[in-house]
Amino acid sequence: MSSVTERFLRYVSFDTMSDETSPTCPSTAKQKLLGAAIVEEMKEMGISDAFMDAHGYVYGTVPGDPSLPTIGLIAHMDTSPDASGADIKAKIVEYNGGDVCLNEEKGIFLKVSDYESLKNHVGKHLIVTDGTTLLGADDKAGIAEIMTAAEHLLTLNGKHATLKIGFTPDEEIGRGADLFDVKGFAADYAYTADGGPIGEIEYENFNGASAKAVIHGLNIHPGSAKNKMVNSQYIAMEFVSLLPVHQRPESTEGYEGFIHLTDMKGEVELSELCFIVRDHDMTKFEEKKAVMRSAADFINAKYGEGTLDLQIKDSYFNMRKHIEPVMYVVDRAKAAMEKVGMKAVEVPIRGGTDGARLSYEGLPCPNLCTGGENYHGRFEFIPVEDMEKCVEMLIEIMTGAK
Ligand SMILES: [Zn+2]
Repeated sequence: MSSVTERFLRYVSFDTMSDETSPTCPSTAKQKLLGAAIVEEMKEMGISDAFMDAHGYVYGTVPGDPSLPTIGLIAHMDTSPDASGADIKAKIVEYNGGDVCLNEEKGIFLKVSDYESLKNHVGKHLIVTDGTTLLGADDKAGIAEIMTAAEHLLTLNGKHATLKIGFTPDEEIGRGADLFDVKGFAADYAYTADGGPIGEIEYENFNGASAKAVIHGLNIHPGSAKNKMVNSQYIAMEFVSLLPVHQRPESTEGYEGFIHLTDMKGEVELSELCFIVRDHDMTKFEEKKAVMRSAADFINAKYGEGTLDLQIKDSYFNMRKHIEPVMYVVDRAKAAMEKVGMKAVEVPIRGGTDGARLSYEGLPCPNLCTGGENYHGRFEFIPVEDMEKCVEMLIEIMTGAK
């Protein structure tokens, strides 16, 4: 078994699911168990300054040629709360085409009809789940690839760019960059290894915001409610009806943004609606927020001031603006991809990345492929051969020309 595969399987045995409802950082203490294990491994490898800070961020340096730029490689340790990340039973299957049986007992199959990209992987070895949990390639593949690349760099007697490693908690709940020490990291630029199929490079993402609407009603015994009861749930539905139906995720693709109702709860007295707002284009992004505000104003004018409280909070912005002036960062990655036999493809992200936030904080940070697919779900998989290719790509980035 290759060292990147061995590492990957070890990391996915740690349950590191993050938790949006937790106020702490890391959001779940168990992420620190993986962080501690990685620090220990880094030290054993010879990364003497490796450490984990109080918030579960792991850092370390592989010193290289000081005349070359200092390059960061970043990945996240948590897994998505969308699917269970506990007790993952990863297995390696030789893929010869057709559907893959994940779980005989439960009759769970990874089907070509659902996941057409499987056709690209005939002849490779796929790491899959038993169909009951996610795999955690997002983003433990990134960690395993960075660690394996670092291990190789340590054998090169400093003939490479200085590597700064950063592993963050809580990326999946949008907080991975919150307490990232950009200054201490001291890289000229960086890459997150948190992407999909090999060859993908991303430096354009959504502008993102979250919105919460809290609607206050008044509960009265329904028998004597006439002209007195105010049912917050009906007002919540009215608010939703004021938002454009064609701007929902299920109706949009490519560069089309959306307003997405992620969850709702309600009773007569109080209802809460949670949304996310997304658009690549800043003007259209602001327009979407304005539509929500004007719907809230309408509700408050109709039912009285304070009926609906709308809070909109920006989460991240499109990093393109900060990458365009330093396109050599993208070019370096593309050259490395092509050198190791990948075909570089630029993909606009319909989501966000920690790299976007870091780019805004002065650390230009495009996102690179790790080889994984079907993230955040039970059908997540990653080909062993593609992970190995990504390790080669990372090494090439660190050893390639200026
Ligand atoms: Zn990820």
